[in-house]
Amino acid sequence: MKKQDVFDFYNDYIMSTYTKIPLVFNKGKGSRLWDIENKSYLDFFPGWGVCNLGHCHPKIMTAVRHQISKLVFIPNNYYHIPQARLAKEIVYWSFPAKVFFCNSGAEANEAAIKFSRIFGKGRYEIIVFENSFHGRTLAALSATAQKKYQEGFAPLVEGFKVAKFNDLKAVEDNLTDKTVAIMLELVQGEGGINVADKDFVLALRKLCDEKNLLLIIDEVQTGIGRTGKMFCFQHYGVIPDIMTLAKALGGGLPIGAMVVKREIADILGRGMHASTFGGGPVICKAALAVLRTIQKERLLTNAQRVGEYLFGKLNELQNRFKIIKEIRGIGLMIGIELSIPGRPIVEDCIKQGLLINCTHDYVLRLMPALNVTKKEIDRAVKILDNVFSTYSEIQE
Ligand SMILES: *Cc1c(COP(=O)(O)O)cnc(C)c1O
Repeated sequence: MKKQDVFDFYNDYIMSTYTKIPLVFNKGKGSRLWDIENKSYLDFFPGWGVCNLGHCHPKIMTAVRHQISKLVFIPNNYYHIPQARLAKEIVYWSFPAKVFFCNSGAEANEAAIKFSRIFGKGRYEIIVFENSFHGRTLAALSATAQKKYQEGFAPLVEGFKVAKFNDLKAVEDNLTDKTVAIMLELVQGEGGINVADKDFVLALRKLCDEKNLLLIIDEVQTGIGRTGKMFCFQHYGVIPDIMTLAKALGGGLPIGAMVVKREIADILGRGMHASTFGGGPVICKAALAVLRTIQKERLLTNAQRVGEYLFGKLNELQNRFKIIKEIRGIGLMIGIELSIPGRPIVEDCIKQGLLINCTHDYVLRLMPALNVTKKEIDRAVKILDNVFSTYSEIQE
């Protein structure tokens, strides 16, 4: 198939729910992708952070290949070893907990919302935050406090109260005798790379303890090493009651997980929630390979190290280009806030072979693989430098 044939097939047969970039890929390795004309790209936004270990990491590929030739699927009314091992591994890396497996971030958050209602015994209100993103299914969408995602889908699911991010008073103002949980991302991804303040998160933890509320931390984007620790909550010195995971957990294959504090986990009992595909053998083997590779290849340390290096380089760019307002983020989850719309810049970077993203219209988002090298960073920064120069006068 030629490029244009692919576009034609999409136009004719695939629903047009995505804003698309006209590139057709068919091969990936590490931080590199090749399109069907064999042009190579440096991928600094691998699948919204799905490919935290880069494309087609050999350890993940081997694990999948091995499992797929032995047993592909077994339903959740039986047992299998990969799911048992993966749950134990996730708990080892996080906190004393039990895990429910599903297939996506939205599903993991749906599970957390359902869990809260059972836990609340009549209390059902969840406080969420401006510019949050928790997924596209109806309850997850209702928890997503951004108009552009919700418009046209009313009536939404009841019971979500929206507070200003990093504003404890706003949270307290939204408390009622029906409140059961507070749900947040510690670094808002789709909201523009907004980092939660440490004091704010500590205060939320205290508030949840005092009022018997669940602290639900959505680590779908921040989890699995993205911020230089396995989970972002580990930067804050708090433990959530519920953590949700997806994106990078499966190394490119679809998996979601709700991780619930051990003392309360069994409240959601037999028959109360389920997923046909959740935590199948192949995907669990892939996820085990992801977690083991992060450890074996010391990728958390690398993410911290190269994250600092990249921040340093971007700060240098900020000193030179007026259009850069702020650089923010943690580890390898980095936002560059601009004074001009980011989309044309993303397009120009792509022309020069660098894939990045723009979130919240004005924020360029970089989330390279955790095993990205300094050399690859230098190349990406050079391209950003070239592109920025065409958009602004240099400050002298
Ligand atoms: C991507 C994302 C989701 C939704 O995940 P899906 O797998 O697309 O359903 C939820 N929360 C956060 C923070 C995300 O970044």
